[in-house]
Amino acid sequence: MNVRDSEHMIAELTQKENYSLTQDIKDADLILINTCSVREKPVHKLFSEVGAFDKVKKAGAKIGVCGCTASHLGKEIFKRAPSVDFVLGARNISKITKAIHTPKFLGVDIDYDESDFAFADFRNSLYKTYINISIGCDKHCTYCIVPHTRGDEISIPFSIIFNEAKKAVEKGAKEIFLLGQNVNNYGKRFSNSHEKMDFSDLLERLSEIEGLERIRFTSPHPLHMDDKFLDVFSKNPKICKSMHMPLQSGSSEILKAMKRGYTKEWYLDRALKLRSLCPKVSISTDIIVAFPGENEKDFEDTMDVIEKVRFEQIFSFKYSKRPLTKAATMPNQIPDDIASLRLTYLQERHTQILDEIMPKQEGKEFEVLFEELRADGAVAGRTDNNFLVQVKGSEELLGKICKVKIANAKRMVLYGEII
Ligand code: SAH
Ligand code: SF4
Repeated sequence: MNVRDSEHMIAELTQKENYSLTQDIKDADLILINTCSVREKPVHKLFSEVGAFDKVKKAGAKIGVCGCTASHLGKEIFKRAPSVDFVLGARNISKITKAIHTPKFLGVDIDYDESDFAFADFRNSLYKTYINISIGCDKHCTYCIVPHTRGDEISIPFSIIFNEAKKAVEKGAKEIFLLGQNVNNYGKRFSNSHEKMDFSDLLERLSEIEGLERIRFTSPHPLHMDDKFLDVFSKNPKICKSMHMPLQSGSSEILKAMKRGYTKEWYLDRALKLRSLCPKVSISTDIIVAFPGENEKDFEDTMDVIEKVRFEQIFSFKYSKRPLTKAATMPNQIPDDIASLRLTYLQERHTQILDEIMPKQEGKEFEVLFEELRADGAVAGRTDNNFLVQVKGSEELLGKICKVKIANAKRMVLYGEII
């Protein structure tokens, strides 16, 4: 979401304010730092980054701090980093053109509604297009700062999403990537009266765009994975067969304390149903270890889900205590050494699982959308079920979808040849 927010700011500045992008910090008239506050580390990094930019920037160049940490720390950022010229929170980014002209501008209203703001158009990639379908989040998971920095959930009107997708496809995009904190809760609340539809209908309607080949999305919430959604996902050939199913914990007790709204049994039922409806699907997940009160049995439940679902990809984190969240005040915070042991154990086991999954891809054929030039005359892209594939080749492959036969499977990359 931050990548897309950055694209929106670049669009506004380059098309409405005559800015252009530079790769050289010494050349910049404006330095924007787009921040995340989901875990604690990036927040610390912000202030060291501001200090480093301040030393090298040219005289008179402005620094703007944007994103979730801007929302969360607000005017405190001016106190801790006086060289910052403006602070612009998530879901306030349409104010960027005002911020650059207003000394010490502070835009951190989490109720601000930019769900139907007409942003100018800029995209980093010609082939893959990020599209926001909702802003904010209504879930209030007890560990998570996002609802406090991105506000309540509002769906973006279908007409805006559709037009963005169509325009991108006309310019050559093959893939659209729909973004939101709970994408499959789409359509529950619009800020004005708009055409009603749920996420499954949204996917079906977008898939009718001629020339569009692939649809991806993140993050769906396991609670809203109803049968209709799994059915549409499995059957619609334009929907990439890669599902992110953020587990967070495999223990029903911990899931309750996290306020996730589902149990271990519900999660397993959905994941295994998905595997049976759609055998080629790859499933990725997010897991937090050492949430307050997590005991050995709870952690074993998480490992049990890993054994049963055999995720193709896991993003795993140590629980990080975040201000404004309910979990920060819970008793039984877990010591860091135990958290580290659990994280290492989980990651090592997942590595072993990957070492079983990946060699099985050798000899298989995949459709790959090539997106990136690599060193030594190689080009990389993704299969529809999200494996990273590399072949020998050059620029002319970029943006093309080709059939590739896998010759050599490594843990993170499949090496193959175009057939
Ligand atoms: N809306 C998405 C996630 C957004 S945050 C969802 O519900 O899945 C991305 C990931 O960061 C989360 O899935 C979670 O695993 C992790 N995360 C969020 N808050 C965290 C915290 N306090 N400590 C550690 N990880 C956290
Ligand atoms: Fe955070 Fe939960 Fe909302 Fe995801 S669903 S953004 S984890 S509160």
